[in-house]
Amino acid sequence: MNYQQILSDILNQTEPLAGEGCQADYIPALAEVNPDQRGICLHTLEGKQYAVGDADVRFSIQSISKVFALAMALSLEGDDLWRRMGKEPSGTAFNSLFQLEMERGVPRNPFINAGAIVMADILVTHLLDPEHDFLAFVRQLSGCDTIDYNRTVAFSERSTGYLNAAIANLLKYHGNIHNDIERVLQFYCMMCSIEMSCCELAQAFLPFADHRRPFKFGKVQLTSSQVKRMNAIMQTCGFYDEAGEFSYLVGLPGKSGVGGGIAAIYPQRYAVAVWSPRLNPKGNSVVGMKVLELLTTETKESIF
Ligand code: GLU
Repeated sequence: MNYQQILSDILNQTEPLAGEGCQADYIPALAEVNPDQRGICLHTLEGKQYAVGDADVRFSIQSISKVFALAMALSLEGDDLWRRMGKEPSGTAFNSLFQLEMERGVPRNPFINAGAIVMADILVTHLLDPEHDFLAFVRQLSGCDTIDYNRTVAFSERSTGYLNAAIANLLKYHGNIHNDIERVLQFYCMMCSIEMSCCELAQAFLPFADHRRPFKFGKVQLTSSQVKRMNAIMQTCGFYDEAGEFSYLVGLPGKSGVGGGIAAIYPQRYAVAVWSPRLNPKGNSVVGMKVLELLTTETKESIF
């Protein structure tokens, strides 16, 4: 498969979408990013890398970090994790409060904000220095030591994140946060603020594309069944309340973030990351969705 040619054709085909959608600005620091950047990188399990456009520019991975948090939380808690959250698609916005209230403080899944805030609480409980360990894990996964938090973005989110604070308070009221709320939110915002390029993200997602190889990165270890099941959760819950649409158009497990990134996996074959900051009304990258739809259509490679 000539992925290099395919990716560059696909990027050209997204040209008519230029200017469509808006970048996230509810986190003020994200509004400062040039919205008209686009990059794609695909890494195969055989170790080949194909990149086009702004694939080496780092961006705010935001909710894509929830996949890394889930790997750590599952490694630490195993199936006990599911006592504190579900694994069902939410069908509501990523920062919705009403479902959490109706369901008495048990988040629908790990990839909505409520679920990720509970995972942040779990990591704060287990780890002496969660910020250090989380970053070390992401650096190991991607094989890149210079990946870092963006403290300006983290602070910008923490100082304006009233909805996430409301979610954390509701969780605490229902006994599903065990640590100090401020500490948990601070760590949650740091996780979201990590900056990575498409090439680094594709590399970091590769271990999730192969549940047959041992998953062991420092202290984070997952069984092949856990890796396989993480793919199932990405498939059903990875795209806000557009998970059905993504599954329909693209047919790969993955996760998006409001920074405009999407990382996806073709099991046993490759991991791919796309970035373009302009989002559709559901919070997914306009160009990112189209790129992945074209990729699986033109290569005829999808899990279905
Ligand atoms: N830090 C963002 C928030 O909590 C993440 C949202 C996202 O990327 O979906 O609002």
